[in-house]
Amino acid sequence: MSCIFCMIAGGQIESKKVYEDEKVVAFNDLNPVAPYHILVVPKKHYESVIDIPENEMEIVAHIHNVIKKISKDLGFDKTGFRVITNCGEDSGQEVKHLHYHVLAGKKLPNYEALDK
Ligand code: AMP
Ligand code: ZN
Repeated sequence: MSCIFCMIAGGQIESKKVYEDEKVVAFNDLNPVAPYHILVVPKKHYESVIDIPENEMEIVAHIHNVIKKISKDLGFDKTGFRVITNCGEDSGQEVKHLHYHVLAGKKLPNYEALDK
């Protein structure tokens, strides 16, 4: 198995976990860009959002419930946060295993930087 997030989900590679259940693991990003930078990852391998079969879309709702729980547990539900999932080349997706970045703990930049 060569997928790094499959290996983290399976426990073969260490991570700083903040949440885990039978379907999902959430851990701190290795190169954080905000005081909280958490990756929420399904244990089942999907390359990105467009690779989730229609009949398995409940995983997306589950991930959102997990994000909500983490935000409350860590307290940034009050101050706000951003959720990002990259998909494919133009997004700069590096790890080809579906994951949601959760960024919090500071005022995040607006979208003007994207308009270049
Ligand atoms: P993306 O560009 O959306 O594919 O983001 C991949 C993210 O995974 C980057 O923010 C990396 O810093 C992060 N990352 C890569 N390897 C690890 C790892 N072993 N543990 C935690 N985060 C990682
Ligand atoms: Zn994987």
